[in-house]
Amino acid sequence: MLRVQGAESVWTGTEELPGATVDCAGDVVAQVGVPDPAVAPGDLLDASGCIVVPGLVNAHHHLVQSAFRTHPDARHVPMAQWLAAMRAKYAAVGIDGELAHAAASVGVAESLLCGVTTVADHHLNWPADLDTCIEVAEATIGAAVSLGARIAFVRGTAADDPARAVATVEHLHAHRSHPLVQLAVGPSGVHADGPETFAALADVAARLGLRRRTQANEVVDVDIALERYGRRPLALLDEWGWLAPDVTVAHCCDVTAGEIELLASRGVTVTHAPGCDLPQGWGVAPVGALLDAGVTVGLGTSGGGSNDAGHLLADARLALQVAPLAGRALTAREVLGIATRGSALGLGRDDLGLLAPGAAADLCCYDVGGVADAGVADPLAGLIWAGPGRRPRHVVVAGRVVVRDGRLVAGDEAEIAARLRALLLSRTSRTSRTFRSGE
Ligand SMILES: [Zn+2]
Repeated sequence: MLRVQGAESVWTGTEELPGATVDCAGDVVAQVGVPDPAVAPGDLLDASGCIVVPGLVNAHHHLVQSAFRTHPDARHVPMAQWLAAMRAKYAAVGIDGELAHAAASVGVAESLLCGVTTVADHHLNWPADLDTCIEVAEATIGAAVSLGARIAFVRGTAADDPARAVATVEHLHAHRSHPLVQLAVGPSGVHADGPETFAALADVAARLGLRRRTQANEVVDVDIALERYGRRPLALLDEWGWLAPDVTVAHCCDVTAGEIELLASRGVTVTHAPGCDLPQGWGVAPVGALLDAGVTVGLGTSGGGSNDAGHLLADARLALQVAPLAGRALTAREVLGIATRGSALGLGRDDLGLLAPGAAADLCCYDVGGVADAGVADPLAGLIWAGPGRRPRHVVVAGRVVVRDGRLVAGDEAEIAARLRALLLSRTSRTSRTFRSGE
C-alpha cells in the first residue's frame, strides 16, 4: 500500500478534493479522500504543499527524434522540406537498437520528469530489415519499461514495406507482453502511405485487438492528398475505413467545419500537438470547435525534430495560450482534462487519466509552494498558467514511485543524457570520416 498524503488538494479529473489522501493498492488506486484508519500504509509519499493530479498522458511523441533537436535546416521550413531534412539526419546517424534505446531513454526520462506517466511513441523511421526493426522496437520499449513509464508503442510506417510492419507487430505482440506496454499501429498519413499499408495495418490491428493511430491535415498532408488523389486526407481516411472509434488522428490543423462533423460522427479521437505545429508554422487545431462537436481530444508533444522539447505540461500552457486564436478560449481544467483523460481515451484506456478507486495508480505531485505560484488565485489553473517548465516532486506509475523528490528512481538523469551525447558524437564523427575518405 502506497499512501500519498498531505496534499493541498487532489484533482481527480472531475473534482478537486482539498486535503485528500490517495491510497494505492498494488497497481491501482484504492481510495481518494479520507483514508481508512484501519489500513496501515506501507510507503508514505509526502505531498505537502502539492497538488496531486492523474499522471499526464502524452498521446503523440516520436521518441527517436529526441536525438535530432534544433537542427537549423529543420527550422521554419515548409513541412515537405522538414521531412527531407529529418530523413537526411536519420541516415547520417543511423537508426538501430543502440540509438533507439539512447534516444528513448532521454525522451522517456524527460517525460517522467515533467509528469507524463504514459507516452504514445509513434515510431515512423525504420531500418530495411525485420531483425533491426524488431531490435529498434524492443530497445525503445525496454528503455521506457526500465525507467518505470508506461509506453504505447505505435508501429508506424512512412512509405516502408507494409508486410515488414505487420511482421514487426506480430513479433512484438507474441514476445513483448508487459503490464506497462501497449501496442498499436499507425501509418504516418496519406501523404506517406498508400491504401495497401492502411489496409494491412487495419487487418493486423483487428486480428490482435490493437488501437489504430495516424496523422492528418498538417499542410503537406492536405497538399499531397489533393495532388495525388484529388481528395482531402480525412475523406480518404474515411473511404479507407480509418475514421472509426478505435482510431486517433494527430495534428488536424487544417480542418473544415464539415470535417469536424465527420470526425464527431465517426467517433474518431484527435490529438492536439501545438508544441510542434505552432513553432513550425504548420497550423493550429481548432480544439474548442472539436470539443464542442463532441470529439474527444488528447494532447501530444510530437517529436523533438519539430517541438525540441517533450514537456507536455508546457504544451498544455501553449494550448491554453493559442486557443483564443483558434476559435475559442479553453479553460485550464479543459486542457488538463485533454492532457490526461482525453489522451487516455484515445488509447482506449478507460483506467488512465483519472484518480478513482480501481483506476491505474498513476499520479504526479506538483509543488505549488514556490514563488511561481505565490499570488495565484486558482492553484489548479496556476499549475498550467504559472511556472512554465514545472517539474513534479513525485511521480507514481502503477503504484510504484518512479520520480521521488524530483529525481528518477530507476535511472540517473545525467548518465542518460551523457549516453546519448556520446553516441551522437561518435556517429557524427564517423560520418565525417567517411565523407573525408570518399573525397
Ligand atoms: Zn507527429
